[in-house]
Amino acid sequence: MADCNETLRELHAFLDGELTPETHEAIHHHLEGCMDCLQAFDFHAELKVVISQKCQSDEMPDGLMLKIEQCFGDEYLDGDPV
Ligand SMILES: [Zn+2]
Repeated sequence: MADCNETLRELHAFLDGELTPETHEAIHHHLEGCMDCLQAFDFHAELKVVISQKCQSDEMPDGLMLKIEQCFGDEYLDGDPV
């Protein structure tokens, strides 16, 4: 069963559809019961769309990714897993 850290770590692979069906299912199941992770995934999914529309490419600028990870790192380390 995936926990919050594992779920967030697999976030990009999940959005890119790179996970095995088993892992994908575990992450999906976790998201159904965890609002924090769901919001993080929603945010990234939206961000990915916005960026790909703006850049016409799947690649994210390095600086932007770093900023995002820093934002999430601080917020989620303080989170209290349910
Ligand atoms: Zn979670």
